[in-house]
Amino acid sequence: MSTPTTHEFQAEVKQVLDIVIHSLYTDREIFIRELVSNAADALEKMRLTQLTENDVFQSEAPLEITITTDEAAGTITIADAGIGMTRAELVENLGTIAHSGSKAFAAALKNAGKGGDASLIGQFGVGFYSAFMVADEVKVYTHSWRNDGEHLCWTSTGAGTYTIDEAPDQARGCKIVITLKEDAKEFANASTVRRVLSKYSNFVGFPIQLDGERVNTVEAIWLKSKDSVTEEEYEAFYKFAAHAFDKPSYRLHFQADAPLVINALLFLPEQNMELFGMGQMEPGVGLYCKKVLIDPHPPKLLPDWMRFVKGVIDSEDLPLNISRESMQDSALVRKLGEVVSKRLIKFLDKEAQDDPKKFQEFYAKFSRFFKEGVATDHANRDAIAKLLRFESSLTEKGEVVGLGDYVKRMKEDQTAIYYQVAPSRSSIEGGPYLEAFKSKGYEVLFLYETIDEYVISSLPEFDGKKLQAVNSPDVDLGDMAHEGESLSEDATSALAGWLKEALAEGVEEVRAGKRLVSAPALAITPEGEMNPQMRQMMKAMKP
Ligand code: ADP
Ligand code: MG
Repeated sequence: MSTPTTHEFQAEVKQVLDIVIHSLYTDREIFIRELVSNAADALEKMRLTQLTENDVFQSEAPLEITITTDEAAGTITIADAGIGMTRAELVENLGTIAHSGSKAFAAALKNAGKGGDASLIGQFGVGFYSAFMVADEVKVYTHSWRNDGEHLCWTSTGAGTYTIDEAPDQARGCKIVITLKEDAKEFANASTVRRVLSKYSNFVGFPIQLDGERVNTVEAIWLKSKDSVTEEEYEAFYKFAAHAFDKPSYRLHFQADAPLVINALLFLPEQNMELFGMGQMEPGVGLYCKKVLIDPHPPKLLPDWMRFVKGVIDSEDLPLNISRESMQDSALVRKLGEVVSKRLIKFLDKEAQDDPKKFQEFYAKFSRFFKEGVATDHANRDAIAKLLRFESSLTEKGEVVGLGDYVKRMKEDQTAIYYQVAPSRSSIEGGPYLEAFKSKGYEVLFLYETIDEYVISSLPEFDGKKLQAVNSPDVDLGDMAHEGESLSEDATSALAGWLKEALAEGVEEVRAGKRLVSAPALAITPEGEMNPQMRQMMKAMKP
């Protein structure tokens, strides 16, 4: 007889379990989605493992998911013939959270308001624990794909601890048995479960049996033509593939034959998960070859800044046996990423023109990514720059303009695109720089974020026009109309000389200029010097 060992959940897991058990009441059915998605992940890993390993436990077991309901016992069981888990893996995967997901999860739930939105859970990489929304007890029976693995059972009620014990005669993979809470017995009912599964089971890449009957057809909707996919199917696919709780803001579904055969289905989310304090997201567009998953989060497929994009890229030009490692250096993959990212940026530019209001709302949440793109993605820099939006001297507060529209309404004699970096609209409007530009009728972009400075400096030109800061010495506004009398040249240089002495160390040079209308003086950043905002940023970074 073996004796079970008892283990404490890691503190972060306890925190998640506490939220799951005590604050999530809506959308409880998503626990099925999360467990099926884990089963599919485990099967996917098994498929890849079988390509390289000869010594596999129960190597003949079919790669499928088996769900059974038992109303009399009040249980639902979800089993898969995936990679399973060893004792150490049970402790690692079901007892701890590797990343700081739980804190972000707790914060996001607070944002979501009372009652708690359970569908958030998958986004945070803690989907397994969603089972405890409906469970009095969860048992995970498992045998790893490794031949020397043990036959095990993990058990918990979600209250602080779990046990691991030997359990003879387990099949390869995981079998998760959930004893349902009194108020969740509906999930022991086959037709309830079938209804829940029907929403997304066709997107699962492996057969699913429910009480002995096949429920899904395994289809790759990205390979279908646009007009044969319904809005509901698209949305359900997005939610399943991205573990998403929101609706997509934009969707791009396209097929191309040249220069590569590509089937792509991409979604831009509604919520920016990085704003929830999750840290950097993983790339969200999976790479497939003829429906077969090559890598769910390929790091070098799309440019880094596009990590908020979700979906699928499938290309039959890829060799099926391409490994994740060799994929990263593959010229073909690079080309694929280039083609798709160009297409996506162009698509967004068009959408932004067709419905500026919608884009502005989207941009308000995702601007960081586009700015990062301009600064880091040289191949696409100019195209991404078209998507940047700023307030300006010609917009209302809260309204924005893009560089394209700016250029369109430039004055005939205007040679550059002007901008001012400052923390707020009022500080710009109250300052001395703007008036000269205003009197010329030149628009000035207002850049409020510290990174804007850096972003703009990586963009020397747009549409052949230089971008110039209003406090740059290169700004040339030509002759300004002045009212009243001007000082004589001698008087001006005497005044300048006196100022230089009086301000001593503070300034490099004092000179007469033509660009002030009513303010007496302004500060200009000398060539090659950091401007004030940059200096402030550097100061703030110093320990
Ligand atoms: P995620 O799936 O985002 O990693 P989960 O909380 O859903 O987070 O699952 C945690 C981990 O538990 C998984 O990463 C996996 O290692 C393991 N796991 C869960 N379900 C299974 C399963 N059916 N087979 C094998 N491993 C599993
Ligand atoms: Mg999961």
